[in-house]
Amino acid sequence: MTTIEYEPVIGLEVHAQLRTRTKVFCRCPASFGAAPNTHVCPTCLGLPGALPALNGEAVRMAVRAGLALGCTIRLRSRFARKNYFYPDLPKGYQISQYDEPLCENGSLDVPQPDGSVRTVRIQRAHMEEDAGKNLHGASPGVSLVDLNRAGVPLLEIVGHPDIRSASEAAEYLRQLRAALMFVGVNDGNLEAGSFRCDANVSVRPRGRETFGTRVEIKNVNSFRFVQKAIEWEVAHQIATVSAGGRVEQVTKTWDDVEGRCNVLRKKEGSDDYRYFPEPDLPPLVLSSDFIEGVRASLPALPAARRARYVAELGLTDGDAKVITEHPKLSEFFEALAARTGDAKRAANWVCNAVKTGFASDGLDATLPVTVDQMAGLFARLDDGTLSGKLAKEVYAQLAHTADTADAIIERNGWKVVTDAGAIEAACREVLDANARQLAAYRAGKKGLAGYFKGEVMKRTGGRADPKVLDAVLTALLDGAKE
Ligand code: ADP
Ligand code: MG
Ligand code: ZN
Repeated sequence: MTTIEYEPVIGLEVHAQLRTRTKVFCRCPASFGAAPNTHVCPTCLGLPGALPALNGEAVRMAVRAGLALGCTIRLRSRFARKNYFYPDLPKGYQISQYDEPLCENGSLDVPQPDGSVRTVRIQRAHMEEDAGKNLHGASPGVSLVDLNRAGVPLLEIVGHPDIRSASEAAEYLRQLRAALMFVGVNDGNLEAGSFRCDANVSVRPRGRETFGTRVEIKNVNSFRFVQKAIEWEVAHQIATVSAGGRVEQVTKTWDDVEGRCNVLRKKEGSDDYRYFPEPDLPPLVLSSDFIEGVRASLPALPAARRARYVAELGLTDGDAKVITEHPKLSEFFEALAARTGDAKRAANWVCNAVKTGFASDGLDATLPVTVDQMAGLFARLDDGTLSGKLAKEVYAQLAHTADTADAIIERNGWKVVTDAGAIEAACREVLDANARQLAAYRAGKKGLAGYFKGEVMKRTGGRADPKVLDAVLTALLDGAKE
């Protein structure tokens, strides 16, 4: 019997909150974290007779995102009602877009571990409003509804099922989040729910053209969980079909405690939603001038920056990828490289020390140091005041403070000792104190050189310049100098 090899097929849908000041169809604040039901009005509460009015800033941001993803922007798009009942949706329908979405036919470059790039196609990106939030468990048997989020603008970005592994899915999401942050339309904050992902997963025998039945995993709120959820679901589906079973089209959620996906409900089809054109809003009509104006205002995107860092600045693919995962890292790197003229060293520090201290909760994240502080540190490396090892210790005290490298060096007395006279004095002390080892060395045990070097380093608090020390110590050990 031959075993059939199965291939995962993955398509992702992302709901990205657009960073507008106000909601998409009313003037309530779109901000997160206010007391429940304080950012509401007749429109977003869905009161009868209240009419929506489209937020122009939300349209501009949706177009920015669409262009960043290489989409065609429709000059005439339309809103549609998606009808369903749920307590967080007081109108009984969500205003979305259906057959005439704003953005279509885009793509995203996804770097692969081997340095190559795969292109994942994007079917569409359409505008819609967010729903409210149900809060369970405040007291037994009671659920509460907070409608602050109802009417917050979202862009739903629907990818083609072009993804072939869980890790590629996670990388696609990192790239998508970066692209949206670079053009300033999404704050990238997964924890606050501004970037949410649904993963559609199926498997098929390798080589087959048609797709298998898919399972949709809803609202996974971290890249790590997305990867774990897809890995689990793929393994589960392969085990099911290998045992002669059938995959059912259902919606699931990821339970990180149990480490598995659980069935939430039977998947609804689009027929269930009774989509129809939104009668309270006219078609959205844009001019080519408007779209070209938005295009001209876009900054360089991660893919273009990666290519430039590698081709012009000599960075590795890996470093270029890390730096372009966040606009703040990228801006910081570019400023530091320009200021110090050493892009590779800048990349090295950004990808290691700086990145480690950069808790990226999205666009609000702050860097642990400033370009001025780092340029000051590099200057002390250049003039030989600091060794690489000491520079790391200076950095540890520099991060998250307003200090300068010089102040820290001064405070700790951390200058490298390059003065050959001082180093020679320390060496002589060590040799005097270790007469037996010196005799052994001179009798041929050359391996003891490292021992003497270590002793001198101890005596100088690790500050002896290694090159000067080598030269001075060798001369003394070999008796070239008495
Ligand atoms: P719906 O509106 O019900 O969510 P769509 O047909 O618009 O369904 O597809 C939504 C997402 O599902 C897309 O991201 C697409 O790539 C993905 N998808 C569709 N078919 C499959 C499949 N067989 N396996 C994996 N993903 C799929
Ligand atoms: Mg869906
Ligand atoms: Zn409102």
